[in-house]
Amino acid sequence: MFCPQCGNNVIDGAKFCTNCGCAVPAVQANYTAPKMAVPNIPAQKSSMDAKGLVLGIICVVSSPFTDGDLALYFFLPWFTSGIAGVILSAIAISRNKKAGHPASMAIVGLVLSIIGIAIPLILRVI
Ligand SMILES: [Zn+2]
Repeated sequence: MFCPQCGNNVIDGAKFCTNCGCAVPAVQANYTAPKMAVPNIPAQKSSMDAKGLVLGIICVVSSPFTDGDLALYFFLPWFTSGIAGVILSAIAISRNKKAGHPASMAIVGLVLSIIGIAIPLILRVI
């Protein structure tokens, strides 16, 4: 049985919901739990921020291994994560700015992606 107020699964026979304290009717027929609350911010936007950040981290972490014995395995992840990180973060930043949201996570992702791409290039030049 589910609470009509919050959808919490209430033990059969309980008079009150343990989650919200709402009185639970003794018998509920054909009750369906309320749908999960959908945030106003589109999920795609925030997931793009996170993806850009994760890609930036992958790029930075794999960048030192692009030169040496493991280059064969790390070059492609480094390169693709860096390029994709820059693109996704840049899109996320512009979307956040248009929507008036803080773009800090996307900015960090963009900076990390650029640093990740730059590290091996700088190391090779030096
Ligand atoms: Zn409840």
